Amino acid sequence: MRPYFVKMKRIIFLLAVLAIWGNITAQSFDKYFENKTLRINYLHIGNSSTEMIEVSSFSAGGIWSGTRSFLIDPHRYGDMLLEVYDAATNALLYSRSYSTLFCEYRATERALTETGSFEECINIPMPKSPIKFTFKVFDRRNVSKLLYVGKYDPAKTVTNHFVNEYEVLELHKGGKSENCIDILFLPDGYAKEDAEKLESDMKRFASYVMNCSPYKENKTKVNIRAIKGFSEESGITDPNGGIKRNTLLNSSYNVIDVDRYLMCLNVWKMYDIADDAPFDVIIIIANSDKYGGGGIYNFYATVCNGAPQADYVIVHEMGHLIGGLADEYYNSEVSVMDYYPTDVEPVEPNVTTLVDFDSKWKSLLSSDVPVPTPASEDHKGVLGVYEGAGYVAKGVYRPWLNCTMKVIAYNQFCPVCTNVLIEAINYYTK
Ligand SMILES: [Zn+2]
Repeated sequence: MRPYFVKMKRIIFLLAVLAIWGNITAQSFDKYFENKTLRINYLHIGNSSTEMIEVSSFSAGGIWSGTRSFLIDPHRYGDMLLEVYDAATNALLYSRSYSTLFCEYRATERALTETGSFEECINIPMPKSPIKFTFKVFDRRNVSKLLYVGKYDPAKTVTNHFVNEYEVLELHKGGKSENCIDILFLPDGYAKEDAEKLESDMKRFASYVMNCSPYKENKTKVNIRAIKGFSEESGITDPNGGIKRNTLLNSSYNVIDVDRYLMCLNVWKMYDIADDAPFDVIIIIANSDKYGGGGIYNFYATVCNGAPQADYVIVHEMGHLIGGLADEYYNSEVSVMDYYPTDVEPVEPNVTTLVDFDSKWKSLLSSDVPVPTPASEDHKGVLGVYEGAGYVAKGVYRPWLNCTMKVIAYNQFCPVCTNVLIEAINYYTK
């Protein structure tokens, strides 16, 4: 009797959750939010064993270019979860899953002994009434911890206003911002004398995105713009090469001790510059010949302009940025330790430990494909379950032999990653 009772309780609970969810999504965006963006600027501080959030300031302006239909995030692919509640009724109004550089830092060897402090930002639609917001963090075992509870009152809380300073280049126009994913390029390390290069690079990278599936089949759902912002000096800081440059965004190689990991440490300033244009995602285009880049889910990505495989780098990093896709490669220099515990199903949609394969691409497999699938030539082009992914050769599996998330190959996303990217584009178009 007991199992039946427990099961019934679960069903009743699920029905209640669905009823609340249905209620919120059915109510219009306009009831709770204005067509304006509110940004929460905060510091994420800690090490491998402890962490905290310190909210620094709020800023507001522009329009809300994000989703109006999926106010409650349909997926929890990221390490962080922001939730926004109506202060009066405690109803959940908005949530957003995302990842951060801090969450990668805390898994490094350095974080065992050193505390780090990282600037972070999150944009939400401007509430019409007072809200409560919470930050939760999830570890690699999917255990959550509440990090912060804050309040915001649109009538009372001190708020800075967006200031427009830069010219905006329109690179691809698919439609109105509220019906498109708005991709914004931010140039870094382009001095005034690199003006021509800046414009031609921005056009070149926009064409890399728009000539790759599934973006090219969804041209009317994508906008790409660039901020025309110059740096004091030409080039990008590279600590291992002894190079220091004074640049617009102060991005650098070798963040969290991975030489090719090119990231920006002045995130607040980056968002201040970005808010001169409507945007859903930010991609830094760095003026450097050295191979490098990075992409953090629903946060930002970087690519360098001079690498011979730059077309591949931008679409690969966008896989992390908009799709929450995992790296399908292994044997890499990535310095994170035990990133995917093999007894836990990872949240990323394109890798599995087979702990809960039903929640991944199992339903798409042909019945004659063995699980796991041998990585042999005759399985080329066959959706399967191939061992080796997520930085390890054993215990983590990928859906395709050689997807763009695994090998340096442009426009070669596997069917699983393609479906995830289409869903991610659609998130912003409704
Ligand atoms: Zn893939």
